[in-house]
Amino acid sequence: MPARSRLGQNFLHDAAAIQRIVAALGDCAHRLVVEIGPGRGAITRLLAARARQVLAIELDPVLAAQLRETFPPERVTVVPIDVLDFDFAATAAGAGERLIVVGNLPYYITSPILLKLAANATALDSAVLMVQREVADRVVAAPGSRDYGLLSVTVQLHGPVQPLFTLPPAAFSPPPEVHSTVFRWRFEPRFQALGIEPEPFFVFLRQAFAQKRKTLANNLRAAGYPASQVQTALSIAAISPATRAEALSIETFAALWKSLRPNPAPSASSTPER
Ligand code: SAM
Repeated sequence: MPARSRLGQNFLHDAAAIQRIVAALGDCAHRLVVEIGPGRGAITRLLAARARQVLAIELDPVLAAQLRETFPPERVTVVPIDVLDFDFAATAAGAGERLIVVGNLPYYITSPILLKLAANATALDSAVLMVQREVADRVVAAPGSRDYGLLSVTVQLHGPVQPLFTLPPAAFSPPPEVHSTVFRWRFEPRFQALGIEPEPFFVFLRQAFAQKRKTLANNLRAAGYPASQVQTALSIAAISPATRAEALSIETFAALWKSLRPNPAPSASSTPER
Protein backbone atom coordinates (compact mmCIF):
# COMPACT_ATOMS: atom_id res chain seq x y z
CA MET A 1 0.00 0.00 0.00
CA PRO A 2 1.49 3.42 -0.95
CA ALA A 3 2.43 5.67 1.96
CA ARG A 4 0.34 8.79 2.19
CA SER A 5 2.63 11.81 2.19
CA ARG A 6 -0.35 13.95 3.23
CA LEU A 7 -0.30 12.23 6.63
CA GLY A 8 3.48 12.36 7.03
CA GLN A 9 3.79 8.63 6.45
CA ASN A 10 7.50 7.82 6.39
CA PHE A 11 7.82 4.38 7.92
CA LEU A 12 10.89 3.52 9.97
CA HIS A 13 12.63 0.30 8.89
CA ASP A 14 15.92 0.60 10.79
CA ALA A 15 15.72 -2.19 13.38
CA ALA A 16 18.55 -0.77 15.51
CA ALA A 17 16.84 2.62 15.65
CA ILE A 18 13.57 1.00 16.74
CA GLN A 19 15.44 -0.80 19.54
CA ARG A 20 17.08 2.45 20.65
CA ILE A 21 13.78 4.35 20.70
CA VAL A 22 12.07 1.75 22.87
CA ALA A 23 15.14 1.33 25.09
CA ALA A 24 15.15 5.13 25.65
CA LEU A 25 11.73 4.81 27.34
CA GLY A 26 13.37 2.89 30.19
CA ASP A 27 11.57 0.14 32.06
CA CYS A 28 7.93 0.34 30.99
CA ALA A 29 6.89 -3.20 31.96
CA HIS A 30 4.29 -1.78 34.37
CA ARG A 31 3.40 1.34 32.40
CA LEU A 32 0.78 2.56 29.99
CA VAL A 33 2.54 3.89 26.88
CA VAL A 34 0.84 6.14 24.34
CA GLU A 35 2.24 5.85 20.84
CA ILE A 36 1.54 8.73 18.47
CA GLY A 37 1.21 7.60 14.83
CA PRO A 38 2.00 3.86 15.03
CA GLY A 39 1.67 3.51 11.24
CA ARG A 40 2.50 -0.06 10.24
CA GLY A 41 3.51 -0.94 13.80
CA ALA A 42 7.31 -0.85 13.53
CA ILE A 43 7.74 0.60 17.04
CA THR A 44 4.45 -0.82 18.33
CA ARG A 45 5.67 -4.40 17.87
CA LEU A 46 8.55 -3.96 20.31
CA LEU A 47 6.48 -1.79 22.64
CA ALA A 48 3.76 -4.43 22.86
CA ALA A 49 6.37 -6.86 24.15
CA ARG A 50 7.81 -4.41 26.69
CA ALA A 51 4.96 -2.27 28.05
CA ARG A 52 2.02 -3.27 30.23
CA GLN A 53 -0.37 -1.66 27.74
CA VAL A 54 -0.02 0.43 24.57
CA LEU A 55 -2.52 3.03 23.36
CA ALA A 56 -1.80 3.47 19.66
CA ILE A 57 -3.29 6.67 18.20
CA GLU A 58 -3.49 6.39 14.41
CA LEU A 59 -5.48 8.78 12.22
CA ASP A 60 -5.35 6.69 9.03
CA PRO A 61 -8.37 4.33 9.24
CA VAL A 62 -6.77 1.72 6.95
CA LEU A 63 -3.63 1.52 9.10
CA ALA A 64 -5.73 1.56 12.29
CA ALA A 65 -7.70 -1.47 11.04
CA GLN A 66 -4.46 -3.31 10.14
CA LEU A 67 -3.02 -2.59 13.59
CA ARG A 68 -6.16 -3.99 15.21
CA GLU A 69 -5.74 -7.20 13.22
CA THR A 70 -2.04 -7.46 14.04
CA PHE A 71 -1.95 -6.90 17.79
CA PRO A 72 -3.89 -8.54 20.63
CA PRO A 73 -6.35 -5.99 22.08
CA GLU A 74 -5.27 -6.69 25.65
CA ARG A 75 -1.76 -5.42 24.78
CA VAL A 76 -2.48 -2.75 22.15
CA THR A 77 -5.58 -0.57 22.08
CA VAL A 78 -5.83 1.20 18.73
CA VAL A 79 -7.41 4.66 18.95
CA PRO A 80 -8.36 5.77 15.41
CA ILE A 81 -8.39 9.54 15.92
CA ASP A 82 -6.34 12.69 15.38
CA VAL A 83 -3.76 12.86 18.19
CA LEU A 84 -4.64 16.55 18.59
CA ASP A 85 -8.09 15.39 19.78
CA PHE A 86 -6.75 12.75 22.16
CA ASP A 87 -7.46 13.46 25.84
CA PHE A 88 -4.12 12.82 27.60
CA ALA A 89 -5.36 14.21 30.94
CA ALA A 90 -8.47 12.01 31.09
CA THR A 91 -6.46 8.95 30.01
CA ALA A 92 -3.86 9.54 32.73
CA ALA A 93 -6.58 10.15 35.33
CA GLY A 94 -8.41 6.96 34.27
CA ALA A 95 -5.22 4.90 34.44
CA GLY A 96 -4.13 6.48 37.72
CA GLU A 97 -0.63 7.13 36.37
CA ARG A 98 1.34 9.64 34.36
CA LEU A 99 1.70 8.55 30.76
CA ILE A 100 4.82 7.64 28.82
CA VAL A 101 4.65 8.90 25.23
CA VAL A 102 6.55 7.72 22.17
CA GLY A 103 6.28 8.56 18.51
CA ASN A 104 7.91 8.95 15.16
CA LEU A 105 5.80 12.05 14.67
CA PRO A 106 3.97 13.05 11.50
CA TYR A 107 6.16 16.07 10.69
CA TYR A 108 3.39 18.25 9.25
CA ILE A 109 1.95 18.73 12.76
CA THR A 110 5.09 18.54 14.91
CA SER A 111 4.65 21.92 16.61
CA PRO A 112 0.94 21.43 17.44
CA ILE A 113 1.80 18.01 18.94
CA LEU A 114 4.65 19.45 21.04
CA LEU A 115 2.36 22.25 22.26
CA LYS A 116 -0.36 19.73 23.07
CA LEU A 117 2.09 17.63 25.11
CA ALA A 118 3.31 20.78 26.88
CA ALA A 119 -0.28 21.74 27.74
CA ASN A 120 -0.78 18.27 29.25
CA ALA A 121 2.59 18.10 31.00
CA THR A 122 1.14 17.29 34.43
CA ALA A 123 -0.49 14.15 32.96
CA LEU A 124 2.78 12.98 31.40
CA ASP A 125 5.93 11.32 32.71
CA SER A 126 8.29 11.43 29.73
CA ALA A 127 8.34 11.24 25.95
CA VAL A 128 10.75 9.89 23.35
CA LEU A 129 9.96 11.61 20.06
CA MET A 130 11.36 11.61 16.54
CA VAL A 131 11.11 14.91 14.71
CA GLN A 132 12.81 16.65 11.80
CA ARG A 133 16.44 17.35 12.79
CA GLU A 134 16.05 21.13 12.47
CA VAL A 135 13.07 21.07 14.85
CA ALA A 136 14.99 18.97 17.40
CA ASP A 137 17.88 21.46 17.15
CA ARG A 138 15.44 24.24 18.12
CA VAL A 139 13.81 22.20 20.89
CA VAL A 140 17.09 21.43 22.69
CA ALA A 141 18.92 24.71 21.90
CA ALA A 142 20.65 26.64 24.70
CA PRO A 143 20.43 30.43 25.18
CA GLY A 144 22.68 32.36 22.80
CA SER A 145 22.80 29.61 20.19
CA ARG A 146 21.51 30.12 16.66
CA ASP A 147 18.51 27.81 17.13
CA TYR A 148 17.33 29.12 20.53
CA GLY A 149 13.90 30.74 20.43
CA LEU A 150 10.30 30.59 21.55
CA LEU A 151 9.99 26.84 20.80
CA SER A 152 13.09 26.06 22.93
CA VAL A 153 11.80 28.07 25.89
CA THR A 154 8.25 26.73 25.59
CA VAL A 155 9.36 23.09 25.56
CA GLN A 156 12.10 23.46 28.18
CA LEU A 157 9.73 25.27 30.58
CA HIS A 158 7.86 21.97 30.78
CA GLY A 159 10.93 19.90 31.59
CA PRO A 160 14.45 18.98 30.46
CA VAL A 161 15.13 17.72 26.93
CA GLN A 162 18.01 15.62 25.65
CA PRO A 163 18.92 14.80 22.03
CA LEU A 164 19.54 11.05 21.57
CA PHE A 165 20.46 10.27 17.96
CA THR A 166 19.94 11.32 14.34
CA LEU A 167 18.87 9.19 11.39
CA PRO A 168 19.36 9.75 7.65
CA PRO A 169 16.42 9.71 5.20
CA ALA A 170 17.40 6.15 4.15
CA ALA A 171 16.18 4.81 7.51
CA PHE A 172 12.59 5.37 6.31
CA SER A 173 10.34 4.19 3.55
CA PRO A 174 9.63 6.29 1.60
CA PRO A 175 12.66 8.43 2.56
CA PRO A 176 11.73 11.95 3.71
CA GLU A 177 13.70 14.94 2.41
CA VAL A 178 15.17 15.65 5.84
CA HIS A 179 17.24 14.02 8.58
CA SER A 180 15.38 13.02 11.73
CA THR A 181 16.42 13.32 15.38
CA VAL A 182 15.12 11.45 18.41
CA PHE A 183 15.01 13.35 21.70
CA ARG A 184 13.82 12.63 25.23
CA TRP A 185 11.60 15.02 27.16
CA ARG A 186 11.00 14.58 30.90
CA PHE A 187 7.87 16.42 32.00
CA GLU A 188 8.74 18.50 35.07
CA PRO A 189 6.98 21.86 34.64
CA ARG A 190 9.04 24.72 36.11
CA PHE A 191 6.37 27.39 36.60
CA GLN A 192 5.97 26.97 40.34
CA ALA A 193 9.70 26.88 41.06
CA LEU A 194 10.20 30.01 38.93
CA GLY A 195 7.22 31.77 40.56
CA ILE A 196 5.43 32.52 37.28
CA GLU A 197 1.89 31.99 35.98
CA PRO A 198 1.94 30.13 32.63
CA GLU A 199 -0.67 32.13 30.68
CA PRO A 200 0.65 35.69 31.16
CA PHE A 201 4.23 34.44 30.98
CA PHE A 202 3.63 32.93 27.53
CA VAL A 203 2.05 36.19 26.34
CA PHE A 204 5.19 37.96 27.57
CA LEU A 205 7.51 35.44 25.83
CA ARG A 206 5.71 35.90 22.52
CA GLN A 207 6.15 39.64 22.90
CA ALA A 208 9.84 39.25 23.78
CA PHE A 209 10.52 37.05 20.72
CA ALA A 210 8.17 38.93 18.38
CA GLN A 211 10.86 40.19 15.97
CA LYS A 212 14.19 38.36 15.82
CA ARG A 213 16.14 41.39 14.52
CA LYS A 214 14.95 43.72 17.28
CA THR A 215 16.43 44.03 20.75
CA LEU A 216 14.40 42.69 23.65
CA ALA A 217 13.76 46.27 24.82
CA ASN A 218 12.41 47.27 21.40
CA ASN A 219 10.15 44.21 21.22
CA LEU A 220 8.74 44.95 24.67
CA ARG A 221 8.20 48.62 23.83
CA ALA A 222 6.49 47.60 20.58
CA ALA A 223 4.20 45.36 22.66
CA GLY A 224 3.07 48.40 24.63
CA TYR A 225 5.28 48.44 27.73
CA PRO A 226 6.35 52.04 28.57
CA ALA A 227 10.05 52.71 27.80
CA SER A 228 10.83 53.72 31.40
CA GLN A 229 9.28 50.52 32.76
CA VAL A 230 11.29 48.39 30.31
CA GLN A 231 14.51 50.23 31.19
CA THR A 232 13.96 49.75 34.94
CA ALA A 233 13.04 46.06 34.55
CA LEU A 234 16.11 45.37 32.38
CA SER A 235 18.38 47.05 34.88
CA ILE A 236 16.84 45.16 37.86
CA ALA A 237 17.39 41.89 35.96
CA ALA A 238 20.95 43.04 35.04
CA ILE A 239 20.23 42.82 31.29
CA SER A 240 22.07 45.15 28.87
CA PRO A 241 19.72 47.33 26.75
CA ALA A 242 21.23 45.89 23.54
CA THR A 243 20.34 42.29 24.48
CA ARG A 244 18.11 40.20 22.21
CA ALA A 245 15.59 37.71 23.57
CA GLU A 246 17.64 34.86 22.05
CA ALA A 247 20.37 35.47 24.67
CA LEU A 248 18.19 35.07 27.77
CA SER A 249 17.94 31.94 29.89
CA ILE A 250 14.55 30.82 31.19
CA GLU A 251 15.57 32.00 34.68
CA THR A 252 16.39 35.47 33.35
CA PHE A 253 13.10 35.66 31.44
CA ALA A 254 11.31 34.78 34.68
CA ALA A 255 13.21 37.45 36.63
CA LEU A 256 12.43 40.05 33.97
CA TRP A 257 8.77 39.09 33.87
CA LYS A 258 8.54 39.39 37.65
CA SER A 259 9.88 42.95 37.50
CA LEU A 260 7.36 43.86 34.79
CA ARG A 261 4.40 41.96 36.23
CA PRO A 262 3.32 44.33 39.03
CA ASN A 263 2.92 47.16 36.54
CA PRO A 264 -0.12 47.79 34.33
CA ALA A 265 -0.39 45.30 31.47
CA PRO A 266 0.37 46.51 27.94
CA SER A 267 -2.61 47.79 25.97
CA ALA A 268 -4.95 45.03 24.79
CA SER A 269 -4.54 46.10 21.15
CA SER A 270 -0.81 45.32 21.21
CA THR A 271 -1.05 42.08 23.18
CA PRO A 272 -0.80 39.05 20.85
CA GLU A 273 -3.23 36.23 21.58
CA ARG A 274 -1.95 32.84 22.59
N1 SAM B 1 5.42 4.89 13.82
C1 SAM B 1 5.50 4.51 12.42
C2 SAM B 1 6.94 4.26 12.05
O1 SAM B 1 7.82 4.76 12.78
O2 SAM B 1 7.17 3.62 11.04
C3 SAM B 1 4.86 5.56 11.51
C4 SAM B 1 5.42 6.96 11.64
S1 SAM B 1 4.87 8.05 10.38
C5 SAM B 1 6.21 9.22 10.37
C6 SAM B 1 3.59 9.01 11.17
C7 SAM B 1 2.29 8.27 11.43
O3 SAM B 1 1.37 9.18 12.04
C8 SAM B 1 1.58 7.73 10.21
O4 SAM B 1 1.18 6.41 10.44
C9 SAM B 1 0.35 8.63 10.02
O5 SAM B 1 -0.75 8.00 9.41
C10 SAM B 1 0.07 9.01 11.46
N2 SAM B 1 -0.63 10.30 11.61
C11 SAM B 1 -0.57 11.37 10.79
N3 SAM B 1 -1.29 12.38 11.28
C12 SAM B 1 -1.81 11.94 12.46
C13 SAM B 1 -2.64 12.54 13.44
N4 SAM B 1 -3.07 13.80 13.31
N5 SAM B 1 -3.01 11.79 14.51
C14 SAM B 1 -2.55 10.51 14.66
N6 SAM B 1 -1.76 9.89 13.75
C15 SAM B 1 -1.39 10.61 12.67
